[in-house]
Amino acid sequence: MKALALFSGGLDSALAIKVIKDQGIEVIALNFVSHFFGGKNEKAENMANQLGVQLEYVNFSQIHTDILKDPVHGRGKNMNPCIDCHALMFKTAGDLLKKYDADFIISGEVLGQRPMSQNYQALEKVKAMAPGLEELIVRPLSAKLLPESKPETLGWVDRDKLLDINGRSRKVQIELMDQYGLVDYPTPGGGCLLTDPAYSARLKMLENDGLLEDEFSPLFYLFRSGRVFRFDKGRYLIVGREEADNNKIQEFKEFGNLYITSQEVSGPDILGYGDLTQEEKEFAINVFSRYSKYKGKEEIKLTVNNEDVILPPIDLDALSILIKKYQITM
Ligand code: SF4
Repeated sequence: MKALALFSGGLDSALAIKVIKDQGIEVIALNFVSHFFGGKNEKAENMANQLGVQLEYVNFSQIHTDILKDPVHGRGKNMNPCIDCHALMFKTAGDLLKKYDADFIISGEVLGQRPMSQNYQALEKVKAMAPGLEELIVRPLSAKLLPESKPETLGWVDRDKLLDINGRSRKVQIELMDQYGLVDYPTPGGGCLLTDPAYSARLKMLENDGLLEDEFSPLFYLFRSGRVFRFDKGRYLIVGREEADNNKIQEFKEFGNLYITSQEVSGPDILGYGDLTQEEKEFAINVFSRYSKYKGKEEIKLTVNNEDVILPPIDLDALSILIKKYQITM
């Protein structure tokens, strides 16, 4: 038999694979890639190697953004639409069963681990949202506490060797991983930006502005870090805080209408998105000066959309009032 696993690279999904693989069942690990989680990462690859399984990246960004906009079962505390998201992963894995010649799907979900999305009803809801696959879903970590699945009934999987983990503590999982000698897995619960309150606040702003759409996904990336300013609906400024932010802004500079940098003074790269007014562009230039090495107190030379600009020292008090007005705080 062969199983497809929903695989984040983390503790629970790795352990679920181990439990199934130890029954002599081949497993292919599917790492789902959206705008907010997943994607090529060393830890997931390292864990897949330790488990001895094939790892496949499955990009479902566009359809994931669609469910994020309007999740049937709502969102958790932040922007995370966990029930719909899990159901989408199962559905997508279901569509891949044939391609990988696999028989059923496993996940690392644990009964009671998350009050809203992994209680008994929620786990059943997720199954019901993946019509035709309900019977083919096995949750090895809590299987003994859940209704028997088809792979168990038919003896593809030995139910006696599955687990009965319940609750939020990860103690049992960590002990088992130690016993198996599986090391260096990411922090449990990390990795999904949609559970991050500060990031969710920025995303919520985009949603309120009507820009929570796949075509605006560069903004989803740009809003991950740095300083963000909102002038009005669809008019933003993204200001790098550190080198990694500046690199990201450079990468996406074609996406904006304004790009500010300097070859002569160290400071933030700045990207303006939307049809900015002249005043807003001047604000952006002053913001560069304020966060540059000279902190607005000296004349600097910068490049604004490929044109050189010489900027004298700025009025810091006036700027600080505008910064307070426009900045979206994390
Ligand atoms: S935490 Fe993120 S990745 Fe996990 S189910 Fe929720 S929305 Fe999806």
